[in-house]
Amino acid sequence: MATNTDVLIIGAGPAGMTAGLYAARAGAKVIVLEKETPGGQIVFSPKVDNYPALPHVSGSDFAENLQNQLEESGAELRYEEAQKIERREKSWKVWTDAEEYEASSVIIAAGTMHRRLGLAEEEELTGAGVSYCAVCDGPFYHGQDVAVVGGGDTALQDALFLSGICRTVTLIHRREEFRGEKVLQDQVREKKNIILKMNCVPEAFLSEDGTLTGLTIRRKTDGAQENLTVSAVFVAVGSDPQTEAFSALLGADGAAYLPAGEDGATHLPGLFVAGDCRVKGLRQLATAIGDGACAGMAAARYAEGQK
Ligand SMILES: Cc1cc2nc3c(=O)[nH]c(=O)nc-3n(C[C@H](O)[C@H](O)[C@H](O)COP(=O)(O)OP(=O)(O)OC[C@H]3O[C@@H](n4cnc5c(N)ncnc54)[C@H](O)[C@@H]3O)c2cc1C
Repeated sequence: MATNTDVLIIGAGPAGMTAGLYAARAGAKVIVLEKETPGGQIVFSPKVDNYPALPHVSGSDFAENLQNQLEESGAELRYEEAQKIERREKSWKVWTDAEEYEASSVIIAAGTMHRRLGLAEEEELTGAGVSYCAVCDGPFYHGQDVAVVGGGDTALQDALFLSGICRTVTLIHRREEFRGEKVLQDQVREKKNIILKMNCVPEAFLSEDGTLTGLTIRRKTDGAQENLTVSAVFVAVGSDPQTEAFSALLGADGAAYLPAGEDGATHLPGLFVAGDCRVKGLRQLATAIGDGACAGMAAARYAEGQK
């Protein structure tokens, strides 16, 4: 027997939880599905400095407040992974790893997932020196030498965070200039224990007995190689949408950003998309929250119209 609900939301990141809050406050019965940790990617940010009116808020505090607000609104949070969606005559059927649901409207707010470097031994060394989360794993390398790979906001934030814990942080970026915010670039350049390696790409992890001992990098301008002795490499080279299971519905293959309007509506009745997995120009906390609010209201109205 499928569980019935007005609005089913896939993903309890900032977009999904905001959508749930708005839809529940509009009177809809709401279930939010989360396969890992509520809060999504923002829990990996130690300090969010660009969310309007809440300067310096920690990502995990932000996520916890939003989760409390969501649950107080009457929306139900369930720890399940959505694996398949199909259209029924007047509703959507969703299968998770635990249950089946029938919902008048569905919001896909599945966000994105960090990208790997694609080097040999990357999988084996993950958790043994290779990490994708500076906030989670940085404290293990207190007083040690570490490296960060990347040149966007996340890499710059990671380097700044680690510079307060580790002895040195070598920041490796493949281009001449960083892509991240100017204010973060200035803060990075002011830190005495952040060493910049511009125009450099990682070539190979170095390891001993299954534990990372260093990283070989190559300078793109003259091909020179250098072996860095580091206890950890933090990878921050971008992310891909977590949409493999749903993208075919919207005419895409594999992991793809999903097309939807500003209210989150897709061309399919009752199917909405919100947050970082939507086709859009800026993937940030503020835009995820905005998407969630719009899609939550639109999905609740759609569900009401089906009654
Ligand atoms: C390290 C880091 C630092 C950042 N710092 C900032 C910052 O300072 N300021 C800023 O504005 N933005 C920052 N961001 C970006 C911000 O976190 C994202 O823009 C925002 O979290 C996007 O929200 P979302 O809900 O769309 O997606 P996500 O946060 O990715 O959440 C999606 C959720 O959906 C879940 N999910 C996925 N698939 C399924 C499924 N099939 N079934 C059930 N659940 C599923 C995931 O587990 C996840 O919890 C940062 C991101 C990172 C990684």
